[in-house]
Amino acid sequence: MKENGRKQGAVSPCAACKLLRRRCAPDCVFAPYFPADEPQKFANVHRVFGASNVNKMLQELPMHQRGDAVSSMVYEANARVRDPVYGCVGAISSLQQQIDVLQAQLALAQAEVVHMRMRQYSDKPRVDHHQGTSSPENSPSSKIVSSQAKSLFMDMVVDQPNMEESLWSC
Ligand SMILES: [Zn+2]
Repeated sequence: MKENGRKQGAVSPCAACKLLRRRCAPDCVFAPYFPADEPQKFANVHRVFGASNVNKMLQELPMHQRGDAVSSMVYEANARVRDPVYGCVGAISSLQQQIDVLQAQLALAQAEVVHMRMRQYSDKPRVDHHQGTSSPENSPSSKIVSSQAKSLFMDMVVDQPNMEESLWSC
């Protein structure tokens, strides 16, 4: 329809009024958020929420919050159309899963950092003690470190004295 400005100042109806086949009043509550050139935007919102509910929700909100409410409703409606069972909950739970995986990775990396710091910390003074001549691999210091690590890890194992040999012999 190309009637823009043709009929003495009559504006073309917004996407909502066009779909609802009604006259678009100058104070139409939908008009600022559902322009005529984005018909799909209102179609999905109408399908999911119903035009009268959207109307009611917008009327109850102060002007400055209506734009955000509309983007939220459009997002939810599009998600519901794409995924009729879960809607945007599907997106939320998949993001939640990503968070869980990343948090586990982060915890692992942090544990590794602590472990490395501990080794670095306990390495340094011992090497000085032996005038730094021996290589760290075969020096007694590495044995001391490993025995420290042993006792540290054994703290986590419930007292089973025989286990130490089998766990650490290799
Ligand atoms: Zn309208």
